[in-house]
Parts: sequence; C-alpha cells; structure tokens
Amino acid sequence: MNLILLGAPGAGKGTQAEVICKELGIPTISTGNMLRAAVKAGTEYGLKAKAAMDAGDLVSDDIVIGILKDRIKEPDAQNGFILDGFPRTVPQAEALDAMGVTIDKVIEIYVPDEKIQQRMSGRRVCLDCGATFHTDFKPPKQEGICDACGKELVIRKDDEPETVKSRLKTYHEQTAPLKDYYKAQGKLTTVVGQEEVADTSKLTLEALKA
Ligand code: AMP
Repeated sequence: MNLILLGAPGAGKGTQAEVICKELGIPTISTGNMLRAAVKAGTEYGLKAKAAMDAGDLVSDDIVIGILKDRIKEPDAQNGFILDGFPRTVPQAEALDAMGVTIDKVIEIYVPDEKIQQRMSGRRVCLDCGATFHTDFKPPKQEGICDACGKELVIRKDDEPETVKSRLKTYHEQTAPLKDYYKAQGKLTTVVGQEEVADTSKLTLEALKA
C-alpha cells in the first residue's frame, strides 16, 4: 500500500506516520527528515536546501523529486510506503504519477491554523534519528532526550513563530491545492486532528481501512 499523509506543518503527520508504520509494517519516507539529514551532512543539495528551509519556504521541486525518486527504489520501500511531507506541490504530485507510482490512499490530517501555531511552540525533534516529541502532547520519557536513540532533542529553526506563519502561508498557497488533485481521483479522506494523539490515531487507522 502506498500512502500519502497531507496536512499543514505541525498537523501531526509524522506522529500518525509512525502509527501507520507499526500497523502496516511499511516505512515512512519523510522528505523533511531527509533534507535535514542532508543539511547536517553538508551535502551539495543540503547546502542548496538550507536557506529555503530556514525561511519556511519550499525547497525546489527538482531537488525534492530527485531525492524521493532515489529513496523509493530502496529495498524496504518495495512493498509500500507512507509519504510524509511529499508531494507538497502539484508538480511534485505529477512527478510521482510520471514515476509510475500508484497511490492507494491520501489521508489529510486537518488542524486549524491557530491550533497549529500553539502546537508548534512545544515541538521537539531529535536531529540524530528524526523522532519527534511534544512537551505537552507527546513528552519524551526524559526531558530533552530522545526515547528512540538517547540523543538531545532540539527546537527546529523552522518551528520559530514567524517561520511557522510563513510555512502555513506556503501550505495554503502551494500544498492545499493537492486536496482537489487527489479528491478528483477519489483517494482523499480527511481526518480531523483531535486533542489526544491516540484519538487522532484511531481515526487515522479507521480511514486507512475504509
Ligand atoms: P517537514 O519536516 O516536512 O515540515 O519539512 C521541513 C522543510 O523541508 C519544509 O518547510 C521545506 O522547506 C522542506 N521540504 C520538505 N519536504 C518538502 C517537499 N516535498 N517539497 C519542498 N520542500 C520540502
């Protein structure tokens, strides 16, 4: 099964991707995590991507499509995958179609902008393994330390309030049109993000089976 998780930054796509990953045993492919790893490693496309990411803008379609194309060829992705953060523009969705990838379902996690702004302020991420936590909704067992790998948790630069505003604007202008793109293909299901992560997960798993 090939899935896409759509939703504004901070809507909880990464968290729900982990839940689906456990349920279906297919990997999550997060272009955001891959780009952050590239920035950290100082690779050529990492250097190109960094300025756009720090400003809350999108990285160019060419770069992101290139890394996605390579990633889905990996052996672990042959029985299906969950795309978290890709596609983010209509040209990226068209590129997926052109790669011959069949998308089975698109799950939109809907959370109003005001809630997103509240949530982002508490988000913490492990720069080493990419796991995400939240000071209120999903606290790590030990404050500031990643449950998965024991490394330090940090606030992402692009989770700063001004950057969040600009990321939401980018989402509405460039990514939200994908809802119509996949609605027209009869693949879109919307899950309303709940206060409790477990409640959203229940709705997400139901949407998956529907
Ligand atoms: P995320 O972790 O998915 O919120 O992504 C963090 C940042 O990486 C975004 O704000 C973009 O700058 C960049 N990024 C991630 N995925 C994409 C994509 N599919 N297209 C363009 N930029 C992306």
